[in-house]
Amino acid sequence: MESKALLIYLFFSVFFISISNAQSEMSTIALKGATIFDGNGKSIENGTIVIENNKISSVGANEMRIPENAQIIDVSGKYIMPGLIDAHMHFFQTGFFDSRPDAADLRDTIPLENVIEYQKNHPERYYQTYLRSGITGVYDVGDYIWTLEFQKINDDNPLAPHTASAGPLITPAPEELIGIFNVNGKNTFVHLGSEEQGRNAVIENSNAGTTGVKIWGFKPDDPEFLHKIKGVAEEIKNQNNKMIAHATNLKEAKMAMELGAKLLVHSVSDTLIDEEFLRLMKTNKTLYNPTIVVGRGYYNTYKALFEQNFEISDLNAVVDSKTRSMLQNASAFRKFLNDERAEALKSRLPMMDKRLKKEKQNMIANLKMVYDAGGTIVVGTDAGNPGTLHGISYYDEIEAMQQAGISAKDLIIMATKNGAMAMDRLEDFGTLESGKIADLIILEEDPSEDISNLRSISHVMRNGTLRNVKDAEDFKD
Ligand SMILES: [Zn+2]
Repeated sequence: MESKALLIYLFFSVFFISISNAQSEMSTIALKGATIFDGNGKSIENGTIVIENNKISSVGANEMRIPENAQIIDVSGKYIMPGLIDAHMHFFQTGFFDSRPDAADLRDTIPLENVIEYQKNHPERYYQTYLRSGITGVYDVGDYIWTLEFQKINDDNPLAPHTASAGPLITPAPEELIGIFNVNGKNTFVHLGSEEQGRNAVIENSNAGTTGVKIWGFKPDDPEFLHKIKGVAEEIKNQNNKMIAHATNLKEAKMAMELGAKLLVHSVSDTLIDEEFLRLMKTNKTLYNPTIVVGRGYYNTYKALFEQNFEISDLNAVVDSKTRSMLQNASAFRKFLNDERAEALKSRLPMMDKRLKKEKQNMIANLKMVYDAGGTIVVGTDAGNPGTLHGISYYDEIEAMQQAGISAKDLIIMATKNGAMAMDRLEDFGTLESGKIADLIILEEDPSEDISNLRSISHVMRNGTLRNVKDAEDFKD
């Protein structure tokens, strides 16, 4: 009991010290006694990690030299690993249908303009949810251009995760489908009407500083599309940017990689992958992001409109009240749906359930094949889509990946180092190494035994400041 009290005191004092130091002097902290997973696959039992200012200065055995001025924090019996990276999320999406009128149209009651404006002006509630879930970096792989601002300023905001954004997506989908998202004079999709239109979008995104250019949908059997997309792929290279791809069937995913895609943001789910896919993935060094749970999230949210409640598994109460109340009162929104449309949605649920089961089988089998072939895998949730909540859905996603037969030790690497690679930020964070930004998490249980032990998170350090994830007040300015 006494040592626990001391520990709590030390955490508190460190928090206190770093807050005052943020303004003036510099601080040195040594976390001593935990099992450390460095994100490169190495682990140190009874290790020590020294943080000077906001950077890691050394990682090593317990007996290594600790600077005299260091605040020593005893974390014996605990586990330390780099902060988690969600390599696939969307800031414009709320986790409910209000931001996805294409899935269930609530715009008569909640205008999309208002939703998007709110998302733009209030990302901080998600920042808190991400950090308190242990996620210190997020990659928004398709969004309105205003997310570029988050990319610029979040590095220096210790109360936000590092952010990368790909900006508006380029797609062959027709204007009548994507126009629904054009609000407040901005769009999240650019229609690929001509090669020139595509090249201009790439130039515009690249000039704005996007991390990647996302292509949403490929048409392998359309020669006209092929001509246009080749120009786009070439322009992406000219601009020194990289292609990321939404391509969920095998033929499309292969086409994307032939065009040079560096990140597949979803599993192949229509069928099993083949040797050619694996070869393309290796020669092209494409990262693979499975997003196993997002489809089921839609299903659960539809269900919540019509019958049962939406269950939120949120141990540390990190989900913001707005998100929580929308999902838990989902059935109240049912009356705002046009009756005919509502009935159609409801009657499609059993079919959807069947399709999702089949797709999940393929996704699990394909993930295992990519893993066995030595492909580079990242963890990304597609959070913001209905039913896939910012922050906490990460645990569901990585547990589903574990079910595919990936070892927890390797999942740690995928969740940290590989995610930072996807964001093009591995030089700065993603592993616990000297010189990197001090972003890490402290867990009560061993994540290398079972990845669901990520849920036992007690503290997160972002930019050198340690905070107690159970205490919301610790995450306010
Ligand atoms: Zn997505």
